[in-house]
Amino acid sequence: MSEKILVVENLVVSYGSIEAVKGISFEVDKGELVTILGANGAGKTTTLRTISGLLKAKSGSIRYKGLELTSMPAHKIVGLGISQSPEGRRVFGTLTVEENIKLGAYTKAKINTSTLEWIYELFPRLKERKNQLAGTLSGGEQQMLAIGRALMSEPEVLLLDEPSLGLAPVLVKAIFETIKQIKEEGTTILLVEQNAKAALKLADRGYVLEVGKIVMEGTSEELMNSPKIQEAYLGKK
Ligand code: ATP
Repeated sequence: MSEKILVVENLVVSYGSIEAVKGISFEVDKGELVTILGANGAGKTTTLRTISGLLKAKSGSIRYKGLELTSMPAHKIVGLGISQSPEGRRVFGTLTVEENIKLGAYTKAKINTSTLEWIYELFPRLKERKNQLAGTLSGGEQQMLAIGRALMSEPEVLLLDEPSLGLAPVLVKAIFETIKQIKEEGTTILLVEQNAKAALKLADRGYVLEVGKIVMEGTSEELMNSPKIQEAYLGKK
């Protein structure tokens, strides 16, 4: 039987008087890769940042293995096993690649060198450049670094915010192949993407977010075959 590892119910998040997320509900099973698709401004980043504890929910609930997260501070949520790779890479430019990765373990008592080695196996490019300043990495390498850093906390659930943003097609393919590998090695993944085609190819299930509301959900196959999705998100007529 599947185990619901993350359950979001009637989540509302607002910035002042603007409601960015308007009562959404969704679930992620242990071991699944679930994608949230949506255009710019749909509320995808807001949703992930609220799960991570970086934003406070106005109402609703977020449960992780039955534990309510909505009033928990971010570092505690990381410590429980949820970690986010942010949109826009956000690496520490004046620190080296390896220093950036190690920062991901800030909730741990010590650095687990086998986790570090695993991250270098997933991203050999980061190993080659471990002493390089992160600010001098290419956009794609910074994206790898942001994911590597998130993995350093050994999360059970990895939240990925638009890992393909701004990358050349060949790098998009490489990043998605690595995400697939991370999933296959046992990490549950919630992937937010505008690149619906790449995300649906990888995901087990997906939700479509439009102006703060979930308007459709289904298996990846159902979503890929939906005329509405094909027209609005896959560029087919
Ligand atoms: P994108 O794909 O462009 O990143 P998104 O789906 O991740 O979009 P969010 O970043 O979650 O969307 O934004 C949802 C809505 O909330 C947008 O209308 C946005 O303008 C608004 N918003 C986001 N951050 C803030 C903020 N700090 N203050 C006020 N409004 C905000």
